Amino acid sequence: MPEVPPRKPSTVAVTAGRPDHTPDAPLNVPVTMASTYVAGGEVEYGRYGNPTWAAFEETLGQLEGGRCLAFSSGLAAVATVLDLVGNGARVVAPRHAYNGSILQLGDLEARGRLTAELVDIADTDAVVAACEGAALVWLESPTNPALEVADIETIAKAARDAGAYVVVDNTFATPLLQRPLDLGADIVVHSATKFLAGHSDVLLGALATRDDQLHGVLKGRRDLLGAVPGTLEAWLALRGLRTLHLRVERAQANAQELVRRLSEHPAVAEVRYPGFGAIVAIVLAEGVMAADLLVRKTSLWVHATSLGGVESTFERRRRWKTEAATIPDALVRLSVGIEDVDDLWDDLERALDDLVV
Ligand SMILES: *Cc1c(COP(=O)(O)O)cnc(C)c1O
Repeated sequence: MPEVPPRKPSTVAVTAGRPDHTPDAPLNVPVTMASTYVAGGEVEYGRYGNPTWAAFEETLGQLEGGRCLAFSSGLAAVATVLDLVGNGARVVAPRHAYNGSILQLGDLEARGRLTAELVDIADTDAVVAACEGAALVWLESPTNPALEVADIETIAKAARDAGAYVVVDNTFATPLLQRPLDLGADIVVHSATKFLAGHSDVLLGALATRDDQLHGVLKGRRDLLGAVPGTLEAWLALRGLRTLHLRVERAQANAQELVRRLSEHPAVAEVRYPGFGAIVAIVLAEGVMAADLLVRKTSLWVHATSLGGVESTFERRRRWKTEAATIPDALVRLSVGIEDVDDLWDDLERALDDLVV
């Protein structure tokens, strides 16, 4: 028989992690509620493994091209990775990134655990120079909420030559638009809370790596520290993954159309969009008051933090005291959903028109 060609990502998203095709087997993996298992097998206890997590991990692992581990949240996965480095190690990280990741680094630095060097990840030469002597290079690309993009391949090579782990938070891009392990990263981090689960109803995190030994170390940390996912959360996230390709395709198409229209609106001074994905940032021409008004004036767009759901949401990021001071005060981050793009634009345009003086 001729060899079966490798399956495409949309097929993997739909079919991976399912039970065998035996008569009367369910098509979907069940929600297995178990704290303990009959002794003598491989799992033994509910903190060490669960068949529902395993189905989610199998699917996301195939999409990223590595082995995956699920965690209770994205930040639990982030903490597990930062814990890999030795005491006093130097970590290179983006000056703009998910706020919680930056706060974790700051907390570890304040307690003398490590030193963090924050860089502009779009400045490849500067990041490459910073790799020397680093134990870990943390990338997020595109960054939150500045939407800078890193040259992952070049940076990963420099970091590996310097003996540092290369970690990429792939939450904004998803494995459908960017596969960091193919570009030389050691570990991919996800907040599965966002696009992967995709329905604004679950908190979940994940890591993926190609290195079996590293996988073992990370699994060991999860077993020991206990930041394990809930079974129902893993099941909901797997259900979300089944439509990831359709959601990302539609949300990205909507985002690209909105970017075109926003760029021509006089109330908008700047549109930031990396060219892919469904996260857009705009800076309001009339400043912070206009940004605060905008998020109150729409009926379809919901003012909310977080991103990656089927519904369109937006947020003025500097309303958070912990957001980087280099992010413009009047920057509003848009998480574009999968609604009809004309309805989304109509709602935004009405609010924006009111802001033109
Ligand atoms: C939300 C987010 C996280 C944190 O994930 P939680 O699931 O909220 O803990 C990490 N990185 C990025 C890029 C995120 O957007």
